[in-house]
Amino acid sequence: MSYKNFPMVPRVIFGRGSFNQLNDILEPKRLNSKAPFIYLVDDVFKSNTWLTSRIPLAYDDRIIFISAAEEPKTSQVDELVEDIILTTKERPSGIIGIGGGTLLDLAKAVSIMLTNEGEAKDYQGWDLVKNEAIYHVGIPTISGTGAEVSRTTVLTGPEKKLGINSDFTPFDQVVLDSELTQGITKEQWFYTGMDCYIHCIESLEGSYLNAFSQSYGEKAYDLCKEIFLDNNLTEEESQEKLMMASWHGGMSIAYSQVGVAHAMSYGLAYLLGTKHGIGNCIVFDHLEEFYPEGVKLFKEMKAKHNIELPQGICANLTDEEFDVMINVSLGMAPLWENALGKNWKNIMTPEKLKSLYQKM
Ligand code: NAD
Ligand code: ZN
Repeated sequence: MSYKNFPMVPRVIFGRGSFNQLNDILEPKRLNSKAPFIYLVDDVFKSNTWLTSRIPLAYDDRIIFISAAEEPKTSQVDELVEDIILTTKERPSGIIGIGGGTLLDLAKAVSIMLTNEGEAKDYQGWDLVKNEAIYHVGIPTISGTGAEVSRTTVLTGPEKKLGINSDFTPFDQVVLDSELTQGITKEQWFYTGMDCYIHCIESLEGSYLNAFSQSYGEKAYDLCKEIFLDNNLTEEESQEKLMMASWHGGMSIAYSQVGVAHAMSYGLAYLLGTKHGIGNCIVFDHLEEFYPEGVKLFKEMKAKHNIELPQGICANLTDEEFDVMINVSLGMAPLWENALGKNWKNIMTPEKLKSLYQKM
């Protein structure tokens, strides 16, 4: 047996208002006055001076605002990298991503592609990155994906939605300031929060489970129950706890895998552009057969927060379109093996998968 030797985020600062210390954190990392820090910031903060005025810009540092309306694409990463190379005098001192999973993944991918030849799509997969990335920092403004702690950056390419999984992907520094997660709509809070809950269920119910993953998964699961079902948390407590649940959920899947909901939601994302959080919720709602207890609790959480999920999103798809989704989904072999065991192909046939998609 050969065990995986995983890198972890080496530095993290936690606390409300810790974002104010960004200058102290970054300044020692500045290579010289011509090597700027580039901030990739969710454009939801464009008019929010409360956040942007606290970004410590100096010399040639700049902010690039990016919409999170669509999930990150390999072509988008390539364009950003080209733009940064053309507009900076020297290779940047660092890339800082501020936003949800979309912006965090873009920051990771851009920092990798600034030091590696070719196009981002060439690196979708496992351990294909050759050179260390540029110093990169993740600052989540919504909690749940675990992208702040994971070893992957999930990108949609011309052929597949697949992460750049590598030892160079994790952030060098993460800033966990729960104050930044205020102002999210209830729906988005629920969808991204449920991504964390589903990570826990899929990890804890999976065949890859081990004591490492279990210890993180159980903690995140308990936090999710407290956040989404108890009534006695203040808003601040709830934001802080969800931030740590996201972290633990991400750590849990680092050493195991996700499962059926993620494999199916990748298919929806690829064909229909359904975003990760809501896509996972739409799928998970129909997975009693695989995760009976997890789905029961999910439905309680959904009812408690009056969340109405879209229905019938696959109702008008052609057979060809179903095939595209099924191929993308069944291509995620490790997820299926984790969920259903070594003989997963006998259980999750294309016909069975189609019948599940048809419910959604
Ligand atoms: P997101 O980043 O797309 O953001 C969701 C919405 O919330 C956006 O409209 C955004 O503008 C808004 N938003 C974010 N912070 C806000 C704030 N403080 N106030 C108001 N609005 C705010 O959503 P997400 O669910 O965090 O991330 C989804 C992405 O993460 C997907 O692309 C998915 O593939 C990826 N992901 C990556 C990993 C990983 O390990 N790398 C894991 C899971 C998901
Ligand atoms: Zn997820």
